[in-house]
Amino acid sequence: MSTIQHNLEYIKAQLPNGVTLVAVSKTKPVELIQEAYDAGQRIFGENRVQEMCDKHALLPADIQWHMIGHLQTNKVKYMASFVTMVHGIDSLKLLAEVDKQASKCDRKIDCLLQFHIATEETKFGLDLEEARELLNSEAYLQMHNVRIRGVMGMATFTDKVDQVKHEFKSLRTIFETLRDEFFEDRPDFDTLSMGMSGDYLLAVEEGSTLVRIGSSIFGSRL
Ligand SMILES: *Cc1c(COP(=O)(O)O)cnc(C)c1O
Repeated sequence: MSTIQHNLEYIKAQLPNGVTLVAVSKTKPVELIQEAYDAGQRIFGENRVQEMCDKHALLPADIQWHMIGHLQTNKVKYMASFVTMVHGIDSLKLLAEVDKQASKCDRKIDCLLQFHIATEETKFGLDLEEARELLNSEAYLQMHNVRIRGVMGMATFTDKVDQVKHEFKSLRTIFETLRDEFFEDRPDFDTLSMGMSGDYLLAVEEGSTLVRIGSSIFGSRL
């Protein structure tokens, strides 16, 4: 059994039923992604559009590509024809561009609203008030080619378990609040994307439905 196959088996055995695993393959070569594919993995996450497009062209067509990184509006057009889910929606402007480019491809693209839950300054994302504004906007109500599936966030990079737990709890509360306020009749608002290599077990305990794991599958990124 290859190391990647072993890592995938190990992680999947720890995830409850219904929790989706996104294998974060950023910076990793296509050979390693193919290895994970051969071990059965079909969902991969990248954080740069160009890199994701290059890999998409070289790898099997039934891979589902998730864009998990911060996204510039001018890059959306390059991936609109194939991306499965965009995790980092942090403005109405970005969502509008995804809608526009999806429409050109005659597609509906799944999106997650990204929230700022960490104490670190550098992490992108909305707060609850901004999300409400977006969801109430006339522009959003006119969009037909995006489907908001849930929320995404990153906890602070720290070994303080209580803090990380608290941040995941706050994202779960945001998820449930928005679901109750805006998506009551929408069972497809079902995705709480939180948890990475260092904190996915905590995230799952706090209700994560999708974990994004890179280094624990492919090894550390130098
Ligand atoms: C890189 C990255 C991950 C995966 O990080 P690991 O610690 O390698 O598991 C998850 N989510 C996002 C948004 C990332 O950029």
